[in-house]
Amino acid sequence: MCIAADLSLVVPQAVGKWGVLAKAEKEPQMSTIETGVLAESTQMAGELSGQALYDKCWALAKNLWWTWHPEVISIFRDLDPIRWRQLDHNPVALLREFTAERLASRAAEMVLSSRINYAHRRLKEYMANTKTWAATHAGVLGGNPVAYFSAEFGLHESIPIYSGGLGVLSGDHVKSASGLGVNLVGIGLFYDQGYFKQQLDDKGFQKEEYLDTKVENMPIEPALSPEGKPITVRVDTRNGALFAKVWKMQVGRVRLFLLDCDVDGNSPEDRELTSRLYGGDERTRIRQELVLGVGGVKALRALGIHPGVYHLNEGHSAFGPLEVIRERMHDDGLPFDEALRDVATQTVFTTHTPVPAGHDRFGGEMVEEHLGPLRDALGISYDQLMGLGRVEPQNPQEPFCMTVVGLKLSRKANAVSQLHGHISRRMWAQLWPWRVEEEIPIGHITNGVHIPTWLASQMMQLYDRHFVAQWIYRMGEPEVWQAIHNVDPGELWETHNALKNLLLAFVRRRVSRQCRRRGESDETVEAARNVLDPNVLTIGFGRRFATYKRATLLLNDAERLSALVNDKERPVQFVFAGKAHPKDEPGKRFIQTIANLRHDPRFAGKIVYVEDYDMNVCRHMIQGVDVWLNNPRRPLEASGTSGQKTVLNGGLNLSILDGWWAEAYDGTNGFAIGHGKSHHDDAVTDKRDCEFLFKAIEDEVVPMYYDRDVDGLPRQWIKRMMNSISTLAWRFSAHRMVMDYARYSYVPSAGGLSCDMTSK
Ligand SMILES: *Cc1c(COP(=O)(O)O)cnc(C)c1O
Repeated sequence: MCIAADLSLVVPQAVGKWGVLAKAEKEPQMSTIETGVLAESTQMAGELSGQALYDKCWALAKNLWWTWHPEVISIFRDLDPIRWRQLDHNPVALLREFTAERLASRAAEMVLSSRINYAHRRLKEYMANTKTWAATHAGVLGGNPVAYFSAEFGLHESIPIYSGGLGVLSGDHVKSASGLGVNLVGIGLFYDQGYFKQQLDDKGFQKEEYLDTKVENMPIEPALSPEGKPITVRVDTRNGALFAKVWKMQVGRVRLFLLDCDVDGNSPEDRELTSRLYGGDERTRIRQELVLGVGGVKALRALGIHPGVYHLNEGHSAFGPLEVIRERMHDDGLPFDEALRDVATQTVFTTHTPVPAGHDRFGGEMVEEHLGPLRDALGISYDQLMGLGRVEPQNPQEPFCMTVVGLKLSRKANAVSQLHGHISRRMWAQLWPWRVEEEIPIGHITNGVHIPTWLASQMMQLYDRHFVAQWIYRMGEPEVWQAIHNVDPGELWETHNALKNLLLAFVRRRVSRQCRRRGESDETVEAARNVLDPNVLTIGFGRRFATYKRATLLLNDAERLSALVNDKERPVQFVFAGKAHPKDEPGKRFIQTIANLRHDPRFAGKIVYVEDYDMNVCRHMIQGVDVWLNNPRRPLEASGTSGQKTVLNGGLNLSILDGWWAEAYDGTNGFAIGHGKSHHDDAVTDKRDCEFLFKAIEDEVVPMYYDRDVDGLPRQWIKRMMNSISTLAWRFSAHRMVMDYARYSYVPSAGGLSCDMTSK
C-alpha cells in the first residue's frame, strides 16, 4: 500500500531541503488533449490494448477504492486536469467523455499505461485478499454480513448523498470495514439532488441550489436478485404503497445498496421522496425513514442477503427491525415478543444526538398511516406500537421517538464518545427506571476517521519513509505511530508548510472566484487572489453553522480579535467555511457576520470565508491549517471528527473539552479551551468560553508558534505536532472504531463470545 512517489504526477512548486514536493492541483491553463492522434500510428495490437486500458480505467472508476488511493486519483487527473476539476473529481463523468481511442492516445502522451495496469492489478489483489484482520477476529460473521443502515454516506465530493458529519462517518465506517475485511453491507438512500450547493449573495446571505445528479455519472448500477433481476421493493402504508428501486455501489470490498423512489408506480410526489437529503417536512421525513428502514430490510431479502447483525447508525432507520421481526414471525412461527427478543439480540444501535430536541419524533397519526399495515402483520395494537417509541409507553401525549424505538429494539447501544456516553445514559435513564445511571446499557465507541481518505499524500510519503513497512495495514496500532518521534523536525515542518501553501492557493482561487461570480470589481478580485500570508499562524474553522457551534464566538470581542489579527510581530489569520441548514436562519446570520468581515478593514484579507463546505473543501482545510478550532457549547458536540482529520496531517487542535477532544487532550498534544465546565446559563458560558479562547490563543498558541530556533523552526510546536500524531492518529481512526464495533458489538450480536462494552 506504500505509494511509490511518481514524480511525473507532481509539479514541483517548492522543493525544500527535505525534498518535499508541493503536489499541484494547479490551475491548469489549457487542455493538451488532442484526439485522433492514435488512429494512424497504431496497429491492431495497440487498439486491443487501448480497449483493455479503457476497460481497466472503468473498473477503477466503478469501485470507490480509488477515493483513498492518491496514485489512482492522479491517473484520472492526468487524463484531463481541467475537466477533472470541472466535473467535481468524478471519474465516471470524466470517462464518459472519452472513447477508447482517445483514452489510449492520452495515455500514450502522458505515459499512463503502466500506472493504469499497476493500479488495476492492485485493485484486483485487494479484492481477492482473504488474509484480513476480520478473517481472524470476526470470522463468526461468516456468510451473514452486518447490515449497516445510514441515512447518508459521505464517500467522496462527487457523490452528493451526504450533508455532513454523520454521512462522512458512515462513509469512513464502510471504507474501514472494507480495509479490515469485515463482512458488511451498507444500506442507504439514493438522493438524486443530494444536499444543496452553497453560494453567498452580495450581502453575505446563504443561497441554496440543488443540482440534479445524472445517474449515468454515478458509480452505481442496478442491484440484482439472485436470479439476476433488478429489484423493486414495495412498502405499504394506509394510503397506498411506496416503491423503491435498489442501486448498488462498490466501496472496496463492501457493497452499498441505495434505495431510490424515482420509479414507475409512485405518484409524482413520491417519485421525489428521495431527491433531497433532509428536505421536505415531517411527512417526507417519516416516508424517507420508512423506505430506509423497512424498504432496506426488504431489499436485503430480495437480494438474498441474510444479515447476522443489523447496525442502525442513528435513529433514521429504526423502523427496520420491525420488518425483521415480521419476517421472523412469518418464517419461524414465533410470537411477536419472542421474535422481538431474537431480533434485538442481533441489533446494534448508535445514537449521535446529545440534544433532546434533535431526535426524530412523529405523532400517532403519522405513525399509524405509515406503519399501520406492518402493525397489522405484527398483530400488535396501536398502543403497543406507539409504546415502543415512547419513554412512558402509556402516555398518549408522548410522540413516537426514533431513538427510543432504536434503543428498545437493540441489545447493544452506544454513543459516539466517552462524554456523549454519559450524556446519553442520563438522557435516556427513564427508559430503565430501575437502574442507576452507570447501569444504563448505553456504552460508547468513539468515532474515528478513515486515514487514507484524509491523509495528504505528502504526509503519507513521510510516514512511508519512517514507519514500518506496510504500516498502513497496521494503522490502528499505537506502536506504528511512535516512529513519528524519530522524524527530523525540519522534515515534518517542511511537509506541513508545503500543505499549508496548497491550502492558501486553494483559498485564494476559491475566494477570487466567489468575488468574480458576484460581479465585483477587478480590484476586489485581485485582492482576493492575495488574501492570507503563508508565514502567519493560520487557524481553520470548518463545520456546520449550527448556532451551538458558535462560529462567531471570537467576535464577542472584536477589538481583541483585531489586536490578534493585526499584531505586527505575531499575527493570526483565519479561514472559515460551513453551511447552515436551509431552515436555520440564525445559522445563516452567523455565516453573514463572518463572511462580511471582508468589508471591515481590520479583517479584510485576514479572516476569509470559503463557500460550499464539502469533503473537498474540508480535505484542503484539515490538511493545511496550523490549528483547527472547535468551540461548541459543551456538551453538544457528540463527537466531531474533523479535528481528527487534522491530526493526521500535522495540524493541532484548539478545542473546547467536548466530544472526542474531552478524552483525547492530554496537555501535550494540542490545546484546550477552558476546563470542560458549562454554566446552566448559555450567556454566561459563552462569555467565559470567549475569554478562555482568547487566553489560549494569546498565551499558548501564538507564543509557541512564533518561538523559533536559529533554523527558524518552532521546536516546541513541532514536538506538539509529534505528540498529537503519536497519541491520537491510531486512536481516533475508523479502523480502531470498526475493530471496536466488531469486538464489542458485531461479534457478540452474531452469537460470538459476549463482551461487555460498558465495562470496557
Ligand atoms: C469530517 C466532515 C464533517 C464532520 O465535522 P465535525 O464538525 O467535526 O463533526 C462535516 N462535514 C464534512 C464535509 C466533513 O468532511
